[in-house]
Amino acid sequence: MQLKIKKAQNKKMDITMSHGSGGQMTAKLINDIFFKHFQNDILLKAEDSAVLDMNGKIAFTTDSFVVEPLEFNGGDIGKLAVCGTVNDLISVGARPLYLTCGFIIGEGFSIEQLERIVISMSETAKEAGVKIVAGDTKVIETKGLFINTSGIGDVISSVSISNSKKGSKIIVTGNLGEHQASIMSARMGIENNIKSDVAPLIGLANIFEKLQNSPKNIDNSEISKTAIQTMRDITRGGLVTVLHELCEKSNCGVLIYEKKIPVCNEVKGFCDILGLEPIYMANEGKMLIVVEEKYADKVLEFVKNCLYCENATIVGEITDGSDVILKTLIGGERILSPLYSEGLPRIC
Ligand code: MG
Repeated sequence: MQLKIKKAQNKKMDITMSHGSGGQMTAKLINDIFFKHFQNDILLKAEDSAVLDMNGKIAFTTDSFVVEPLEFNGGDIGKLAVCGTVNDLISVGARPLYLTCGFIIGEGFSIEQLERIVISMSETAKEAGVKIVAGDTKVIETKGLFINTSGIGDVISSVSISNSKKGSKIIVTGNLGEHQASIMSARMGIENNIKSDVAPLIGLANIFEKLQNSPKNIDNSEISKTAIQTMRDITRGGLVTVLHELCEKSNCGVLIYEKKIPVCNEVKGFCDILGLEPIYMANEGKMLIVVEEKYADKVLEFVKNCLYCENATIVGEITDGSDVILKTLIGGERILSPLYSEGLPRIC
């Protein structure tokens, strides 16, 4: 009898439909998992809405995450859900401040795994300096876990996808293709050391702040406040997709140099075997930054000092054409067409 009780106590708990009932089981799940790990003054008030002190312009964004597998080399769906929204806020020149998160959880999902993912979210939010101030939980009969995050930030600079000017330089903040290669490796059962690059690029928000606080001074270098014209995180569809969006919105062309595209050797090898191109592959911790030509080297220096951006490099420039052109290793020119459809579903 004793043995039986012990076994029952040790049995791993799974999510049941009652956890989504809105009753005591839901309250217990919220207290034991979400409040416990996300705790902050605003969330713990447990009001129907978070009340936030904001002044001036705010940036507001939302994203849903359905990645498969939920945990992979370098990250998990929770880390992805925080980083994706944080990086989208930074992309418009904002300092991320508050997130909300909605969890849609399949019946039978392990509570232990859920807690692991929630802890990962909490740690990433701390690193990014954001508070998770509101949330929601639903339980459905379908298997799996899906997370939506929305985020709000203070706008401190007026960068825009429509702002890139002819002659400006294009910085990519690090090696391309790692997130997609990591997910593909997990799905295909390929053993390697490729880690997803998923990361909150919060160091880049500091560039705006430094420009704002001392308009002509970044690390003792004279830089104009408007030196940075565009920022966009390089996610699904990869670098080429972002460049096409930029060309359309800023009414320009782009020339990039194949020899300057940063890719680590392991991803390069992985792509060679599978016939993939890193410039079309998804990343979750990389930013494209367009900088006025005369400040490009100084901004690059600053970017390289930001966490996760040490391999940042200038990959090309804005032209007065309308195409995205790649100067190949042997000196030829190739027009890069946009990605027609995503070859790999549920990558983020
Ligand atoms: Mg984005």
